[in-house]
Amino acid sequence: MTINQSGWRPEMGANSDSDVATYTGNRALMLEEALIFEIGTTDTTGVDIAPAPKVASRLGGLGRNTGIGLPGLSEPETVRHYTRLSRQNYAIDLGLFPLGSCTMKHNPRLNEKVARMAGFADVHPLQPQETVQGALAVIQELAVWLIELTGMYGVAMAPKAGAHGELCGILCIKAALEARGEDRPVILVPESAHGTNPATAAFAGFRVENIPATAEGRVDLAALKARLGPDVAGVMITNPNTCGLFERDMKAISDAVHAAGGYVYCDGANFNAIVGRVRPGDLGIDAMHINLHKTFSTPHGGGGPGSGPVVLSEALAPFGPIPFVSLMKDGTYKLVEEESAGELHPQTFGRMAAFHGQMGMFTRALSYILSHGADGLRQVAEDAVLNANYILRSLEDVLEAPFAASGPCMHEALFSDNGLAEGFSTLDIAKGLIDEGFHPMTVYFPLVVHGAMLVEPTETESKATLDQFIGALRSVARRARQGDAALKSAPHFAPRHRLDETLAARKPVLVWKEAELAQAAE
Ligand SMILES: *Cc1c(COP(=O)(O)O)cnc(C)c1O
Repeated sequence: MTINQSGWRPEMGANSDSDVATYTGNRALMLEEALIFEIGTTDTTGVDIAPAPKVASRLGGLGRNTGIGLPGLSEPETVRHYTRLSRQNYAIDLGLFPLGSCTMKHNPRLNEKVARMAGFADVHPLQPQETVQGALAVIQELAVWLIELTGMYGVAMAPKAGAHGELCGILCIKAALEARGEDRPVILVPESAHGTNPATAAFAGFRVENIPATAEGRVDLAALKARLGPDVAGVMITNPNTCGLFERDMKAISDAVHAAGGYVYCDGANFNAIVGRVRPGDLGIDAMHINLHKTFSTPHGGGGPGSGPVVLSEALAPFGPIPFVSLMKDGTYKLVEEESAGELHPQTFGRMAAFHGQMGMFTRALSYILSHGADGLRQVAEDAVLNANYILRSLEDVLEAPFAASGPCMHEALFSDNGLAEGFSTLDIAKGLIDEGFHPMTVYFPLVVHGAMLVEPTETESKATLDQFIGALRSVARRARQGDAALKSAPHFAPRHRLDETLAARKPVLVWKEAELAQAAE
């Protein structure tokens, strides 16, 4: 491997199969980008500041006496480096992002405008509470809306993501059982559950047992009932589930679990399909996290932090975490923390997070809710389901849809790799989609379907976009059915082709070391 004077590595851009290597490694106006340590050197600097005046050090001998090893780039070099890198990223602002179970929808710009207002954007978590009454009021108003939309009794706004919300809900269940003086070591989780569900239960100290699914892709109620007993703390059920189906027996499941003395946790990551149409509280659910970064349109992935409020039933609310916002009798808002919890929230299981909120996500989610209103939110669910069914019915003749006979899907369409030519798999379809300019769907999840492909279009895609995606996926699926050998080495047009993903996951090289780079070059 050679690194030429400007730090570029030309062969990085040369495609093995099809094309000509360029001098720079660039491909048209898509620029090949080396690591920042390769383009900048530690003995140059991009800034010109006067040497510091000689003063006695007050660091008690702890001052650094070696260089810090950062590359010294000028401002334009730095700006270009990061702008080039950002162009190699795929984002919801570039195109359809059909990740099943992840609700990657458009992030409305109105949310951004509101979140950037100085009164919201510049608050600091350590400010005195009387100076952030407006921010606390916003958190409280969002809380009221989430309770209204879910028909639940209370909500914990502290969790920072869906998985964090799951932990919050399960810790509430644990605290409730402790208050009853009962030891129930088992949490039941369906086979099709998102990996975070069993991980959460295990992390909280429970033993996880699987509940089987029926042939039509829903929880097997009879098997669940047969397993319930005095050792079961509760169940974690995703509804709509990860096969894209509504759990029709949810009320019967809740009733059976309650009759056996357990609690019902619902994974609400797929709330987008039912918001405004179904209230989880009416289905007997005791705790459910809401991913504001999915259903309520706040950015996620590389776009921003998550936020996972958990709505709670009357049975679990007394055990919810601190901190939380409380409206006091004198009309002021109070952030309830350790010193006031004894009086205002004596049964709390404890602190969930250092600071309250992803404030920026709360303001975005509330803007979204208020700008849609009740009718608009109901239409979100309706359009999301309509779009997913359009995908399902437009592809079922070229991709096997294992649960298509179970009726309409909810927010996402599920396909399997059944019917592809010998030696072709879901991975080939995903890689082929990249050449077509689409981010692949969720693959190999849920595990209950062989070679699963899970497509969630969301309501924010137009019919024109859906038609283009369907056309691309139909073409790639046909090639996989016919055994088109070129598909086995896709993507052909991406700067990198098939990477060793297992190696990358198992032995990631996360720190740049000159010696390792030199070794790789040999
Ligand atoms: C996204 C998701 C989660 C986890 O949510 P995070 O916000 O990523 O922690 C849990 N369950 C399901 C079904 C999900 O889709």
